[in-house]
Amino acid sequence: MNAKHARSPVIKIVAGENEIFSDDEPAVPLNVFYVSKSLLLENSTYFNIILDSAPGRAVVFLPEHNYLVVAVWLNLLFHDCLDLLHEDALLFHNMEKYLVFADLVGSEKLKNVVIDTMQANVARFSIYALRDLQDHHPSLTVCFDIILEYLACVVVMEGWRHLMDRAETESDYDQLYGSANFKGCWADFITDHGNLDIVNKLLLKVDDLNREKAQNTLISPAEREDCKWHEHLTEQAKANCPRRPGKRQECP
Ligand SMILES: [Zn+2]
Repeated sequence: MNAKHARSPVIKIVAGENEIFSDDEPAVPLNVFYVSKSLLLENSTYFNIILDSAPGRAVVFLPEHNYLVVAVWLNLLFHDCLDLLHEDALLFHNMEKYLVFADLVGSEKLKNVVIDTMQANVARFSIYALRDLQDHHPSLTVCFDIILEYLACVVVMEGWRHLMDRAETESDYDQLYGSANFKGCWADFITDHGNLDIVNKLLLKVDDLNREKAQNTLISPAEREDCKWHEHLTEQAKANCPRRPGKRQECP
């Protein structure tokens, strides 16, 4: 945010169908935002297109998008900082909302922050999360890949027994989702035909990571702080990513 943005006209953004109020500030709708036009144009192909096609336009409605998702995106723009999201963002259906919105506005920054948050918390997920992703959230392929690689890494570093113990005890995942549906045991998991593809992918990944371990290049997804799972549309954006070597920045 700079003086150029402060000189720009203000666009009103309304997220959701109706105005939403909180008890704390009953006069201020939570889902209505006022943002300088130049900031939107700099950060979103979507706003570029819709504001360009109607130059006098001062209000943009996003009826299908949650105001919390819009608020997170705006915080990212205002602070220009890749900070991690709230824990609720780890729920797969919320992650989908963030990524769908990131796709709509064309914000690789938001997409990458969601992925970073997921990756930083990957140790909380057990193998049942892979089944949930496979069955109910097929669009979250990157999340699937990160959890798969983490679990394969557990096998390579600590052995299959450890993965089985993880799957048989109540994991953070169960607490996070508050669901008893995911409880079971490893034996049940591998005999379920619906898990065949997951088990095969895990075996292949374990082979890959064993090779990496032999070459001393193995890093657990729980410890990586690089750009491996990011999406960058241009080489320049990739070079400027804070998670590139030498580019690391602390959020204020
Ligand atoms: Zn990156």
